[in-house]
Amino acid sequence: MSKRDYYEVLGVERSADTKDIKKAYRRLAQKYHPDRNNGDEKASEKFREVSEAYEVLTDSQKRAAYDQFGHAGVDGQSAGGFGGAGAGGFSDIFGDVFGDIFGGGGGRRNPNAPQRGSDLRYNLELDLESAVAGASVDIRVPRHIECDRCDGSGAEPGSTKETCPTCQGHGQVRMQQGFFAVQQTCPTCHGSGQHIKVPCHKCHGDGRVRETRTLSVKIPAGVDTGDRIRLNGEGEMGVNGGPPGDLYVQVAIKPHHIFERDGRHLQCEVPINFVDAALGGELEVPTLDGRVKLKIPPETQTGKLFRLRGKGVKPVRGGPAGDLLCRVVVETPVKLSEEQKDLLRQFQDSLGDSNNQHSPKKSSFFDGVKKFFEDMKS
Ligand SMILES: [Zn+2]
Ligand SMILES: [Zn+2]
Repeated sequence: MSKRDYYEVLGVERSADTKDIKKAYRRLAQKYHPDRNNGDEKASEKFREVSEAYEVLTDSQKRAAYDQFGHAGVDGQSAGGFGGAGAGGFSDIFGDVFGDIFGGGGGRRNPNAPQRGSDLRYNLELDLESAVAGASVDIRVPRHIECDRCDGSGAEPGSTKETCPTCQGHGQVRMQQGFFAVQQTCPTCHGSGQHIKVPCHKCHGDGRVRETRTLSVKIPAGVDTGDRIRLNGEGEMGVNGGPPGDLYVQVAIKPHHIFERDGRHLQCEVPINFVDAALGGELEVPTLDGRVKLKIPPETQTGKLFRLRGKGVKPVRGGPAGDLLCRVVVETPVKLSEEQKDLLRQFQDSLGDSNNQHSPKKSSFFDGVKKFFEDMKS
């Protein structure tokens, strides 16, 4: 059973604060509450999902663990948790009773049937250079593996499991509540139908232990924020001999101090002085594979974009490399000496009455302003 992202479940941003999370939860919990959905299985499943997401994201410690390691960071962490790999223990502010009445937890499912392990997610931040060129990155991933002391049985070696005396091995007990007979997960064995006499000393009867593994992940060239890399079988171990889940490495690209990425294109800002802008010149601009020369024609205005074809990013899914767009920004000179200021005044005087013809944008702007005020008067 693979789990959805908690933030996705609640429909909130990753930056959402507790207030936003509570608001989103309240709305969804009301919508999917079993009381309002006549015990509809799907709604009940949604309700559980929403409650679980709420419980993790409003606990700052669990939330931090989840943000770093995904579901592996929080699954099966506490005794009152969610029981990890799909066991589906369930608690929320409305109490446990709904989960049991509406087939939650073990439900009518055979508790001893093989179940696939949960998928895990790892958030990986990459710098732009590694994302563009590709890289090999070592990540440390915590997950549950089968306990080697008891081979996953949970029973201390030498001791045996026996049929649960409370439920006689059914994993379920019937309880009378008013007029209704309610099927509940057996409180003694938690649905497994078996009772461990002497719990394993290493895993305390859980059959699983946590370990942190270092995995080497090959990042293909051209990945972008939002891309996922799947590592088959590197997720949580399965239950009752089921296959393991997968590990998803979720890629996010860190901001770069020069380039801004837009898919396969890159953008950067290149400041030039106003003399180069007026007379034209040659600039050196940075690209991901070194400097290149860029010719600036005379009378270049600020904000003009120059396109360097093929100097962008080669997309991970194939196709030609994108372009590098250099936006030229004309910079006003600062810290001028008296002599330099004098030269500028002389330059200004030299423009004389023909000022407008040298600043086409400025003159059309002021023509527009003049017309605007004349229209207001009439
Ligand atoms: Zn063990
Ligand atoms: Zn039992």
